[in-house]
Amino acid sequence: MNKEQLLFCPLGGSGEIGMNLNLYAYGKEENQKWIAVDMGVTFADDSIPGVDLIYPDPGFLLDKKKDLLGLVLTHAHEDHIGAITIIWPKLKCKIFATPFTATLIKEKFKEKKIDITDYLKIVPLNSKINLGPFEIDFITLTHSIPEPNGLSIKTPAGIILHSGDWKCDPNPLVGEKINDTKLKSIGNQDVLAMICDSTNVISEGRAGSESDVRESLLKIISNLKKKIIVTSFASNVARMETIFYCAKKTNRQISLVGRSMHRIYKAAKQCGYLQNIIEPVDPRDAKNISREKIIYLCTGSQGEPMGAMRRISSGIHPDVYLDKGDTVIFSSKIIPSNEKKL
Ligand SMILES: [Zn+2]
Repeated sequence: MNKEQLLFCPLGGSGEIGMNLNLYAYGKEENQKWIAVDMGVTFADDSIPGVDLIYPDPGFLLDKKKDLLGLVLTHAHEDHIGAITIIWPKLKCKIFATPFTATLIKEKFKEKKIDITDYLKIVPLNSKINLGPFEIDFITLTHSIPEPNGLSIKTPAGIILHSGDWKCDPNPLVGEKINDTKLKSIGNQDVLAMICDSTNVISEGRAGSESDVRESLLKIISNLKKKIIVTSFASNVARMETIFYCAKKTNRQISLVGRSMHRIYKAAKQCGYLQNIIEPVDPRDAKNISREKIIYLCTGSQGEPMGAMRRISSGIHPDVYLDKGDTVIFSSKIIPSNEKKL
């Protein structure tokens, strides 16, 4: 029992979709040092009436608080950062994130009036941090949000590759390509285990590239004559850029509708993404633009009750409405756990 050991302890996200919170520990039992990776939520479905959000039970982690060296975030999807403002205030540990993720969590904490300046450490892409017995190397991957990072976690017992979420996109349009050089060099060392996201792993074939989606959306949009409303995940900045691109190519203006669409747009701009696009028009002003000359990009692609798309389709949105001959494009795939809300 007195031997140094490496532990992996998932408090959420393993064997289920959402609420990712994984722990690693190293050391002798009486002196183990811990790190946490991600702190996400999951969206409840109709099987749990009255519940909207579920987050992992942090009790075990709170017991380890004094030996917790830090929280490392892989990327900014809600199932990886959504519980941070609920759990972190009880921990007050250092938080490590790349710039885009850091910008979004800063906003989350600002809304709750919590100052994390002294705790937040911004990590440049593809760089390394040292936390006690853990040497953590960030590896840029591709996914449906900017800056997804895999983590190579080196310990005296060996290396763990913690993938985070990923897909292989040879042409991601926004952000860097997969750092396959780094992945290969880690693969050439003795990796003890790969802790890996597996959503959609049972679907055969290859995931499509964002550049294929751009081509196909431009074709569809070019053939439409009246008002166009596109709904998509706000966090997919490459998809957002594609709609801006299609608007420019078809001589239309673009208007963003929904709070998270504006939040992500602002964060992406701040971090140096979305630099060569046209300026969006405020939805209140877009009402004065003729329907042949405007595209709206809206939240609510999963039919969320508070999403802009739900309000537009119900005819209760104050600024955006549908007329005969207008087109709504759902640029999204239904994802497990959200589908029952449709
Ligand atoms: Zn993700």
